[in-house]
Amino acid sequence: MKGAIAVINAGSSSIKFAVFDEQATALRRMFAGSIRDLGGASPRFIVKNGAGDVLESRQWEEGSKLGYEDAIALLLETLPRHLNGQRLGAVGHRVVHGGEHYTAPVRVDAGVLSTLETLIPLAPLHQPHNLALIRTLLSVEPDLPQVACFDTAFHHTQSPLERAFALPKHITERGVRRYGFHGLSYEYIASVMTQRDPALTGRVVVLHLGNGASMCAIEDGKSVSNTMGFTALDGLPMGTRCGALDPGVVLYLMSELQMDLGQVEVLLYHQSGLLGVSGISSDMRTLEDSDSPNAKMAIDLFVHAIKHQLGALAATLGGLDGIVFTAGIGENSSLVRERVCRDAAWLGVELDDSANAAGEAGRISTAASAVSAWIIPTDEEVVIAEHTRRIIDGN
Ligand code: AMP
Repeated sequence: MKGAIAVINAGSSSIKFAVFDEQATALRRMFAGSIRDLGGASPRFIVKNGAGDVLESRQWEEGSKLGYEDAIALLLETLPRHLNGQRLGAVGHRVVHGGEHYTAPVRVDAGVLSTLETLIPLAPLHQPHNLALIRTLLSVEPDLPQVACFDTAFHHTQSPLERAFALPKHITERGVRRYGFHGLSYEYIASVMTQRDPALTGRVVVLHLGNGASMCAIEDGKSVSNTMGFTALDGLPMGTRCGALDPGVVLYLMSELQMDLGQVEVLLYHQSGLLGVSGISSDMRTLEDSDSPNAKMAIDLFVHAIKHQLGALAATLGGLDGIVFTAGIGENSSLVRERVCRDAAWLGVELDDSANAAGEAGRISTAASAVSAWIIPTDEEVVIAEHTRRIIDGN
């Protein structure tokens, strides 16, 4: 691979990026950063080196609006300053939905982009932003190779049974089935967990608990089942998403409460989950610090849903050898980990309270625990960089 690899994760109001170069054969994170409050009132930009020192930062005046084109121009102007004379060789993107078509990363051209745009209704919160950035970059730098890496792809090993809905064939044939998400995170965890403990080659449930949250049953490093389904709305309650819901609720909202499609979408994606239940915040830290009974109810509901799903995933796997906590809440909330592990005692999880309270990456279950429990920080960016390198090198 000639040149550095930039990894971009574009959201609705922020772009996160990380830049890697090749050291011997390994990839090294040179620097990373973000553009926040894109399209909002006070955009901010920051670049930090691998040790976390700020290399560059900028804050725009109140009222300045920054769009995707400005963001791309800013990145193309900024990145070379920190590349130590290397050129940018390729860009890898996190793209939420690859649909039935893409079960592996792909180099993006106009045709691929058009296919990916047809999947926007399946991931309206993320896909439009992922693709808008790729399209903008393709128009200003048509010769810069871009690779799309999908959150759905890791789950393509799931059985047809696992992916099916009990709906008539003329509906399921249109691609209405479970896809699963957070696959780049699960792929990273699966790639490193056996280095922690050989037993993690067996039956493991990984809990990706962040602002978006899901759980994945993994066996022999392959996805068997994921709590997210057709869209990233299913499964656990999240920061602002409702998680699993009786579909009859949607019918009720529309028929009895006269809500239209747009209102239902806003309710389920942006006003539900931890925010909706607590009425305070989508942020777990704020809820843990709050005395409000509604904040307590939001945390209780989150932990309760995890208990349900853990039982279901352990049943799907036919037993359990380990559980792994990752992402913002999984890596940082000793309270949530403690409650989840306590609920999982019947499965054979015995928490080491002091290891859990310390919160360091590594084992947090006792030596005697039949099912081991771990904190493993996720790294979706390095997965995307590796895929991008492989595709550009033609391997
Ligand atoms: P992510 O989407 O992976 O960045 O995770 C964001 C979530 O992690 C938010 O709900 C944060 O409140 C939560 N989080 C981050 N740090 C902590 C912490 N120290 N304690 C509890 N929750 C945390």
